[in-house]
Amino acid sequence: MLRVAVVGSGPSGVYAAQTLVQQREVPGVRVDVLDRLPAPYGLVRYGVAPDHEKIKSLQGSLRTVLEDERIRFLGNVEVGGAELSTERLLELYHAVVYCVGAARDRLLGIPGEELAGVHSATAFVSWYSGHPDAVDEVFDLPGVDSAVVVGAGNVAVDVTRILARGTAELAPTDMPQPALGALAASGVRRVAMVARRGPSQGKFTTKELRELGTLPGVGARADRAELALDPMYTDPGAAAALPAVARRNLEVLRGWAEAEPGGEPRSIALRFYLRPVEILGGPDGRVTGMRFERTAPDGLGGVTGTGVHEDIEAQLVLRSVGYKGVPLAGLPFDPAKGTVPHAAGRVVRAGRASVGEYVAGWIKRGPTGVIGTNRPCAKETVSSLLQDAAVLARRELPGDPLDALRAAGLHPVEWPGWQAIETAESDLGRSLGRRSVKIPDWAGLLGAAGLT
Ligand SMILES: Cc1cc2nc3c(=O)[nH]c(=O)nc-3n(C[C@H](O)[C@H](O)[C@H](O)COP(=O)(O)OP(=O)(O)OC[C@H]3O[C@@H](n4cnc5c(N)ncnc54)[C@H](O)[C@@H]3O)c2cc1C
Repeated sequence: MLRVAVVGSGPSGVYAAQTLVQQREVPGVRVDVLDRLPAPYGLVRYGVAPDHEKIKSLQGSLRTVLEDERIRFLGNVEVGGAELSTERLLELYHAVVYCVGAARDRLLGIPGEELAGVHSATAFVSWYSGHPDAVDEVFDLPGVDSAVVVGAGNVAVDVTRILARGTAELAPTDMPQPALGALAASGVRRVAMVARRGPSQGKFTTKELRELGTLPGVGARADRAELALDPMYTDPGAAAALPAVARRNLEVLRGWAEAEPGGEPRSIALRFYLRPVEILGGPDGRVTGMRFERTAPDGLGGVTGTGVHEDIEAQLVLRSVGYKGVPLAGLPFDPAKGTVPHAAGRVVRAGRASVGEYVAGWIKRGPTGVIGTNRPCAKETVSSLLQDAAVLARRELPGDPLDALRAAGLHPVEWPGWQAIETAESDLGRSLGRRSVKIPDWAGLLGAAGLT
């Protein structure tokens, strides 16, 4: 029997586990999927926006995998911490696949980022998604009239939409009650989503962009003159060479720029060619706005500064300018890329592939792609692992790793514990007159799992 630990129960971990048990080359593989959180599914539970129910429902197919009898979910087990080192884990299993994601945000690197009211989109997403590490985050939403979101990807679109959405539309989601209450009391009327580059260079997808224009009570706007700075906007011949998604995005933005403004109470403005220079604050240390430098296309696909500045008022700034992995104690790490160095999924230590240690998902390839991209990524990694299986399986293991984890002082949440959390979340929702509602704190989750 080959015993494998998969660290991380997000999409890449689940797909790695699935590939391991479904393949036929090496019979008798058993997989433990470990996660530091008591709940599985990684960013599908704690990142994908709560109002995107169709994508959220992917949790159903991840669940089916984790319910396979050859797979065991062990939540509340942090690898690389005091109780469980990477070395010890490798003693307990023939092979370890690290699928720990890359959900640390990047800074803008400009003055003013320390001001009250300036947050990462990651913190905001974690908070409204009920991530237990974010339960103490405070967003002073009643005091916010105008918000700035810096970034041009789908996460920027997500946080922009959640800020602008009415609570009636969010109530049917599983958003934790405190976050829903705070958004209900929000004063946000205007959200500016600001990009350094031009509209044809946005990283958002058309479906997500278009959705911003369909929110009840919200006017989506773009400025015709600003869009026209992009040669791809004004020259249909040049635009024909763009990827289809960029062409469609331009058409959505054109529609917004050409529409007569309606009388909606809230607005979303998509702004382009503005480079963040400084976050402005008042004497109370709170953000009051953001200063940008107008940029212009440099003819090489990049932008260049023009020396012209523009200030945008804001009492809340969310930065969404990319994600990065964090080093895990005991694993090599490439700080420039924010990933673990690897060769076809095998962890590379001191220039050599380490047989028995593997990576998949965002920590392997960086924070790119959609959920489905993690499937072929995990398959490549598992294929490397299976090539090493004959060598790996020769080693005798000390016994059931679960006993060793408990002996080390860990209290794993097994599948019935997770099911008890799900039941407690349904009960909580029912008591609030809502559907299932997330428990947003560690004590609540562990208590529901029967661990306190
Ligand atoms: C805000 C946001 C919204 C997104 N929305 C969408 C969307 O709508 N559609 C889409 O297709 N894609 C979306 N994505 C992308 C998608 O979520 C990722 O492609 C995917 O989650 C990456 O999978 P992963 O398994 O590599 O990492 P993750 O999903 O991050 O999973 C990593 C897991 O590892 C665990 N872990 C971390 N460190 C340790 C440790 N030391 N010990 C034990 N466990 C550990 C974490 O708790 C987590 O459960 C979104 C991403 C973000 C950030």
